[in-house]
Amino acid sequence: MLSDDELCCGPSLYIDGKWTNALGGGTRDIVNPADGTVIATVDEADRADAVAAVAAARAAFDTGGWPATPVSERVGLLLRIADSLAAERDRLARIETLDTGKTLRESYIDVDDVIAVFRYYAHLAATGADRLVDIGDPAIVSRVVREPVGVCALIAPWNYPLLQMSWKIAPALAAGCTMVAKPSEVTPLSTIALVRLIDRAGVPPGVVNLIQSSGARVGSALTDTPDVDLISFTGGAATGEIIAGKAARHITRVALELGGKNPHIVFPDADFDSAVDAVLTGAFLHSGQVCSAGTRLIVHESIADEFVAALAGRARAIRVGPGLDPASETGPLVSEAHRAKVEAYVALGIAGGARLVTGGARPDDPALRDGSFYLPTIFDHCHRLMRIVQEETFGPILTVERFTTDDEALMLGNDTAYGLAAGVRTADLARGERFTRALRHGTVWLNDFGYYTPAAEWGGFGRSGIGRELGPSGLAEYQETKHIWHNTAPAVGGWFTDN
Ligand code: NDP
Repeated sequence: MLSDDELCCGPSLYIDGKWTNALGGGTRDIVNPADGTVIATVDEADRADAVAAVAAARAAFDTGGWPATPVSERVGLLLRIADSLAAERDRLARIETLDTGKTLRESYIDVDDVIAVFRYYAHLAATGADRLVDIGDPAIVSRVVREPVGVCALIAPWNYPLLQMSWKIAPALAAGCTMVAKPSEVTPLSTIALVRLIDRAGVPPGVVNLIQSSGARVGSALTDTPDVDLISFTGGAATGEIIAGKAARHITRVALELGGKNPHIVFPDADFDSAVDAVLTGAFLHSGQVCSAGTRLIVHESIADEFVAALAGRARAIRVGPGLDPASETGPLVSEAHRAKVEAYVALGIAGGARLVTGGARPDDPALRDGSFYLPTIFDHCHRLMRIVQEETFGPILTVERFTTDDEALMLGNDTAYGLAAGVRTADLARGERFTRALRHGTVWLNDFGYYTPAAEWGGFGRSGIGRELGPSGLAEYQETKHIWHNTAPAVGGWFTDN
């Protein structure tokens, strides 16, 4: 159980500047996936709480003055939040590990990214400028300005709870929007901790609101209402479809960061050891519960046997264990229910004729019995039409396909309904550059895998979503563009005669 000090317990819904319990009195136990114990109990919002949160955000936007706050105030708030995140780095990392199961090392990377994101958007807010358009008439001042889009519903998944929500909250605050944040019901703790820091940093009432609950319970109050101007959603493609449909009813703007099935292409001229290492890390970090996980290896036939053997050796050596144990290299799956989904995909792979090279089972260490652990799993000799190759398994499952020509590698690399991220490994830089342009994915890594930075856009082609987070585009998601045409010397136009 997390201590009160660590979690700052008490009411965990934050509506109109006040911490409150759910109107219906509902609560939810939050479970540590490493051992099945309850680590906290949080309030569980009903639709009425969500409606109240949207109303608070609406009032703060329409009459509360937040959109017109001087940029310097918004910048100051963002920097204070970044500073308090830095001061609370250890506590936040521990909460994230206990709630998601990821290793503490990964949680620290997440928290550091979040701090950098708040600082980045403070910088961007401070440097944003209007654009003057030269009309060719000195009497006309034509300028294009950016204004906040309005009330935003921010909906985040369970795999990177603090990070994904921060990629939304930081630019939304920078733009002058107000918002209702809804983390995943499975992993709300780090978002509660973040909003407590935002509250203490002096955010005005109603600007940031927080509700925890299941999407089924409160989703439509956030997505099917004219009171919300933008829905920024990160999660699965199936949920994204539902949300886009709801948003269409009111012509509400949507930003969708959805799943991925990300190819990692390895040519025979690539440095062998670093390629094995990168494929291993890309597939099995956070037990594969990463939207950009490189779970589809596409390797040249001439090195495939040797490559898969080396990979399997490394995969068997991965130390699976609780995230708080410094010896663990990867943690559990987020829940028993999620492990059951991963196991169903493994069964599909076996039934479909893929060759199970390693894994395909729970660890037999009795110390891990109560957690939802699963071993790194590799399927060789996969076919592009297999479901384990095409669908996002969101677990530690790597599929292997072999190619012989560049054209075939490219065809397989683009052979997905998604388009979030891809990797290419080759010593031939001309070929590498060609692939970085020809692969239809939002991020392409050449001789690297998995890295991102606050200043560069993140998002996907195809079913991986609509829009971009991070970078200048990540701020633009939260802005409307307005053209202001100012005639400084009005005169009769003379189009129609006046007699
Ligand atoms: P889900 O789509 O199941 O849920 C995402 C969020 O949406 C949760 O907060 C969920 O609430 C909420 N939700 C569910 N149904 C509705 C609804 N009808 N209306 C409104 N909100 C709803 O995804 P997961 O949480 O399982 O996350 C995993 C997915 O997220 C993967 O597909 C992964 O690829 C993707 N992802 C994409 C990223 C990217 O950058 N492109 C980054 C990280 C993850 P609740 O769960 O509480 O019911």
